[in-house]
Amino acid sequence: MSGAFRKPRRFDANLVVIGAGSAGLVSAYIAAAAKAKVVLVEQHRMGGDCLNTGCVPSKALIRSARAANNIRRAAEFGLRAGPVEADLAAVMRRVQDVIARIEPHDSIERYTGLGVECVQGSARLLSPWEVAVGERVITTRAIVIASGGEPALPALPGIDAIETLNSDSLWSLATLPPRLLVLGGGPIGCEMAQAFQRLGSAVTLVQTRSQLLPREDPEVGALLAARFAADGIAVLTDSQPLRFTGTGPAGALTINRNGAEQTIAFDRVLVATGRRARTTGLGLEVLGIERNADGTLHTNRYLQTTQPNVYACGDVTGPYQLTHAAAHQAWYAATNALFGGWRRFAVDYSVLPWAVYTEPEVARVGLNETEARACSIAVEVTRFDFDDLDRAITDGAAEGVVKVLTPPGSELILGVTTVGPHAGDTQAELVLAMRHGLGLRKVLGTIHSYPTLSESNRAVAGAWQRAHLPPWLLQLAERYHGWRRG
Ligand SMILES: Cc1cc2nc3c(=O)[nH]c(=O)nc-3n(C[C@H](O)[C@H](O)[C@H](O)COP(=O)(O)OP(=O)(O)OC[C@H]3O[C@@H](n4cnc5c(N)ncnc54)[C@H](O)[C@@H]3O)c2cc1C
Repeated sequence: MSGAFRKPRRFDANLVVIGAGSAGLVSAYIAAAAKAKVVLVEQHRMGGDCLNTGCVPSKALIRSARAANNIRRAAEFGLRAGPVEADLAAVMRRVQDVIARIEPHDSIERYTGLGVECVQGSARLLSPWEVAVGERVITTRAIVIASGGEPALPALPGIDAIETLNSDSLWSLATLPPRLLVLGGGPIGCEMAQAFQRLGSAVTLVQTRSQLLPREDPEVGALLAARFAADGIAVLTDSQPLRFTGTGPAGALTINRNGAEQTIAFDRVLVATGRRARTTGLGLEVLGIERNADGTLHTNRYLQTTQPNVYACGDVTGPYQLTHAAAHQAWYAATNALFGGWRRFAVDYSVLPWAVYTEPEVARVGLNETEARACSIAVEVTRFDFDDLDRAITDGAAEGVVKVLTPPGSELILGVTTVGPHAGDTQAELVLAMRHGLGLRKVLGTIHSYPTLSESNRAVAGAWQRAHLPPWLLQLAERYHGWRRG
């Protein structure tokens, strides 16, 4: 296809990166660090979704919600406190303050200082070597498309008449909706449902699948659903949305649940049913760059699109919609784009963790039981429950489990699911062990401070060790001690 275009004889840049979100920023950083001439084009805000509408604002909002919940639990800790009322405008001001504090990390000033030429505007590919931004045409040896993703609206009758909220628009909400309907039980839906319920909305969560967080084991979805129900959220799984009625922000959604129709009235509805690749206006059709069935850009294991010198990373290509996955891919995309003529690196997703910041938090790396079963991979599952962990008990957070999957008879880690307090943080030790081939005996042989949440890792390693002590050795030890007693 590139044969249809004329290759320039000289190039303005070694690399043009389209999009200054997690994927684009890291691509540009790596290229500049390697002394390449790199141009980074951003049409909206530096930092992309993660900083402005994704990870950062959502975690800041969750923090306020957790504070509200802690106050509500005051009596449990022997304290007296009055009723809690969230001032959503103030909560959102804090959210924006948090963004402003992190913004300099992703700013034009910082990246210019690193040697990146930052250009504001919409980029469009004219050929595999030419990128137009307004009137300017930049010639380049290679291109990295890091244009990210955007919320996708489900095709439901009546939805166009409703002023729905999504992860882009949520952050300008100034008053708390008395009744919030959350459509979607994935990570964003679950995090926001719990946060808004804790801030004071009456939340109904509608999920088409049979469990929350459907990528996780059913017991994880069930644990979270039980916690949500205890928090007062109406969790409606196995529910097919049929149609919206009403106009403006408020309305009603009719669903089919177990064969019966049910109508849920709401003041606001947050649609969190998925995100699609942001590709409009990039000129991909002209270049014949292929997409996958879900609209993401098709890339090979070197993150090359169907145009060999055009690479893609982050949400625009997937398969993970995570900041650290985008940053991980960016190294491969930028390195292959700059040095692929000499050596190429295939992207490695084998040990890629993720977390969902509900309470309890859910974290996973590698295989879970459901996937192991589906792929007929023989595994042993070792568990440790947080209600046995001293620190979780002192913190009033003794809920959840660590599940470690190992090959039968082996101490090597194939996957870990952690549900519990700060699961995303505590799991890091097992991610490290898995990444570097350290077995559970090494985790068990490591001294952990008492009482910490990370002792859960040592405890699960201990459970594995106990299950693998040879019975003959124990019998021998018993006989030895008997003999010593005389
Ligand atoms: C509510 C929410 C919570 C999240 N929480 C987490 C979390 O806790 N942890 C986690 O790991 N992930 C989280 N994510 C996902 C994470 O935000 C994304 O995976 C990440 O931002 C993807 O980065 P990206 O660089 O691929 O895309 P983006 O961040 O979307 O950046 C793409 C950039 O490209 C620009 N662009 C697009 N087209 C053009 C063009 N033609 N010309 C110039 N610029 C262009 C866009 O303006 C945008 O700034 C969350 C997402 C949401 C929505």
